[in-house]
Amino acid sequence: MDGAQTPYRIVIAGAGYAGLRATLRLSARLDEGSGVELTLVDRRDHHQVLTEVARVAGGARPAGETRIPLARVLDERVRFVRTGVTGFDLAGRRLLTEHGPLPYARLVLALGSRPNDFGIPGLAERALTLWSVDDARRVLAAVDAQMAAAVAAPDPGERRRRMTVVIGGGGATGVELAGELAEELPRLAERHALPPDDCAVVLIDAGPTILGGSSPELIARATAILADLGVAVRTDARIARASAEGFVLESGETIAGGVFVWAGGVKVPDIVARSGLPVGHNGRVKVDRYLRALDHPAIFVAGDLASIPDPDTGRALLPTAQSALQQGETVATNLLAEIAGEELVPFSFLDKGFVVSVGGRSGVAEVGGRAFGGRPAQLLKHAIEWEYRQSVKRLRGWSPIGAGVARVQGR
Ligand SMILES: Cc1cc2nc3c(=O)[nH]c(=O)nc-3n(C[C@H](O)[C@H](O)[C@H](O)COP(=O)(O)OP(=O)(O)OC[C@H]3O[C@@H](n4cnc5c(N)ncnc54)[C@H](O)[C@@H]3O)c2cc1C
Repeated sequence: MDGAQTPYRIVIAGAGYAGLRATLRLSARLDEGSGVELTLVDRRDHHQVLTEVARVAGGARPAGETRIPLARVLDERVRFVRTGVTGFDLAGRRLLTEHGPLPYARLVLALGSRPNDFGIPGLAERALTLWSVDDARRVLAAVDAQMAAAVAAPDPGERRRRMTVVIGGGGATGVELAGELAEELPRLAERHALPPDDCAVVLIDAGPTILGGSSPELIARATAILADLGVAVRTDARIARASAEGFVLESGETIAGGVFVWAGGVKVPDIVARSGLPVGHNGRVKVDRYLRALDHPAIFVAGDLASIPDPDTGRALLPTAQSALQQGETVATNLLAEIAGEELVPFSFLDKGFVVSVGGRSGVAEVGGRAFGGRPAQLLKHAIEWEYRQSVKRLRGWSPIGAGVARVQGR
């Protein structure tokens, strides 16, 4: 390690699942006298519990509950800089931010991903996204505004159009949003004195099924729950463009609605795409088995940004919170190993399963190769959310091996 620098500066960019986990682990295990300066950078002053934002869009959870203020969870030894990351000075080992450059001995890049509209014409202008708590609030506000407009619509067809939400992308995010909105729309309609039966949610996917890549049993269960909730699922329906009227499919058919949400894919932030770091699929940064950017050993990459091959499929691991957390752990372990002069450990993903809530009372899950659905899956989702929140609180000052023992003394 670069022992010449004092203090030894570790800068973590991004307080999402990967970055916050790495920060909490490091701060719990580094002693005052370690000579390490730990800086966390994020443009937000809170951590977003993204896995819960579909509930915000559906009105089932207040936005504030899905934001964890960083001041409440960070150890006082962590220097938090609230600013936007604007670029990288790779040669000079500086992270460029709106507040000026931050020099580092080691950088952890954990800036997450962005919605990818795949260049589909009109999509960026016409459709909302669901990639933050604010996005979720915008979706709910847009639905409410369309309901208000529907009250004034003289034509029943126009009224129904305004009361229809169309979601592009039948992955986990699209399915969760469809389930939440299918339950919330009729309630909103009643509040606006509109006929609840006029509401509709349409979920569109270009592939042959929703939740592509999942087991047939899980897909069948999710499809059945959505049907019970009244969601119209359209598969093999590729969106060619978005117009003022709706999503225009390659077949020429227009799926009309009042609110459009795109949940069809992700890409890396532009600043990472043009950073000069080696990139792979979808612009994700290629890393070695210790999660260091290829050819840039001073930079660790974790979470949605990292392109990590799945040993089973050879394809990049899916961008999930579960995987981001595990990568945050590995990065913290390896930073500590470097400081202690020990060997780094390779990252290995432990797939604990997959769970998707479908509405407020049901869901689907696959754990240990067994698919199940209904209330137990929804309860499992709640349990995971609860456990995650507890882990964020508990990690502050917590050491897995024993107080003091695992704390790194000096470099
Ligand atoms: C609606 C939704 C539901 C999901 N549900 C699940 C689920 O149930 N299970 C699951 O495993 N995964 C789920 N995911 C995926 C999961 O949320 C992501 O894989 C995970 O958040 C990735 O973690 P990360 O640390 O890489 O990035 P993030 O958690 O996105 O964190 C990135 C951080 O970087 C900050 N940042 C970004 N750019 C800048 C910049 N330029 N300057 C300063 N700060 C910046 C952001 O503010 C953010 O705090 C869901 C995602 C969404 C959107």
